[in-house]
Amino acid sequence: MYYSISELAQKRESPLVVDTYMDLEFARPGGCPVQKVGKAHIIGVVSRTAEFVEFDGSYEIPYTDYCARCLEEFDKVLICNIKGYFSKLDSVVDEDIYKYEGHKIPLGLAVEDDFILNIPFRDFCLEDCLGLCPKCGCNLNKTKCDCASEYNQEV
Ligand SMILES: [Zn+2]
Ligand SMILES: [Zn+2]
Repeated sequence: MYYSISELAQKRESPLVVDTYMDLEFARPGGCPVQKVGKAHIIGVVSRTAEFVEFDGSYEIPYTDYCARCLEEFDKVLICNIKGYFSKLDSVVDEDIYKYEGHKIPLGLAVEDDFILNIPFRDFCLEDCLGLCPKCGCNLNKTKCDCASEYNQEV
């Protein structure tokens, strides 16, 4: 959840290259928005400005969820760019700025929040998932039923 930036403090060298795998916890209210997430692969750079520590990079998170159309479980990967700001100052009360203490920034928390923002509310196994037949309930991605043609005959 936390990423150590002590190297940044020691060397006073900026930026610090990040390439790490992190377990996400989704420990806050609302929890994880999908069934299951794998380790987040986080890549980027951490640099220091006068006021903040800034992370600029991207993440890849494999996840499992249920299709909103056919209700089958699917596996996907969400890839997003992310910028995160971290501050030690109590005076900073912006929601988008994460507080940190010592030499550890809550990078995982910033990634979790970004994941929640970017995950589609209605997610599909395939972009053109055919869903379930409204009449017999079969999965139209896997089977073909005659309901549509029967319906047409009735009309
Ligand atoms: Zn589907
Ligand atoms: Zn059918």
